[in-house]
Amino acid sequence: MPELPEVETVRRGLETVMLGARLSQIDQRRPDLRFPFPERFAERLTGRTVETLRRRAKYLIADLDGAESLVMHLGMSGSFRIERAANAQRPFSEAEAAAKDPAHDHVVFGLSSGARIVYNDPRRFGFMLLIPSQDLATHPLLRSAGIEPLSDAFDGAALAKLVGTKRTSLKAALLDQKLIAGLGNIYACEALHRAALSPRRAAMSLTRKNGSPSVHAMRLAHAIRAVLEEAIAAGGSSLRDHRTTDGGLGYFQHNFRVYDRAGSSCARCGGTIERMTQSGRATFYCGGCQR
Ligand SMILES: [Zn+2]
Repeated sequence: MPELPEVETVRRGLETVMLGARLSQIDQRRPDLRFPFPERFAERLTGRTVETLRRRAKYLIADLDGAESLVMHLGMSGSFRIERAANAQRPFSEAEAAAKDPAHDHVVFGLSSGARIVYNDPRRFGFMLLIPSQDLATHPLLRSAGIEPLSDAFDGAALAKLVGTKRTSLKAALLDQKLIAGLGNIYACEALHRAALSPRRAAMSLTRKNGSPSVHAMRLAHAIRAVLEEAIAAGGSSLRDHRTTDGGLGYFQHNFRVYDRAGSSCARCGGTIERMTQSGRATFYCGGCQR
């Protein structure tokens, strides 16, 4: 499942070719993904210009002229690849060719520039919707999305206000998409380690008695931002088949400090990374330095 850094990486890749481009030809190859495509999907997109390409939570939002927005979600295994006109002659590596199984290419966006953007999704949990732009903020998918952790509004005080009022573990509160948008299991584990806070700690420990943020809230907010920004800088990271959007295979090389590293030693204190289950999800942490 892609987390915020993966989606943001895809957004940045797509933006280089989609921004300001006109959608000249849409090839929709099946009636549905996770949900049916919107009625007359190809017809409604053809001729439209992409005015902005944004991300909200894990949704990619292409605002089109004509006051509609194309909302896209990658699901479990969705990816985009860009085929620039000049790429047509470039020989694919064997691995690249294998990954481009055309049976899973479900939508092809032809752009006025001659480039093509191909949406591939073997498991088909992704989806695409067309929503009037003015309705986005109140749409059921988006209206309850929490704060964007990379926005200016996100800091220790905001974190304490949102998470520090919940009667759950800190880890569980961090995964609540209605509190913080797009932070998933991998980066929640990494941020808690970075901030040296135990995932078992009460979420309320982020707030002091007078309601102000604790020093832990300040440290954790900083850590969340840091792990996300580093992952985006590294091109995102994922355990699944995620390709970068530049046309090549993009298995991101990212070194997690605790995630999926049970049994190895902590880079900070030399302790052993442990694994436990919280709310049905695996939590990785260092028992030595996370308090
Ligand atoms: Zn440690």
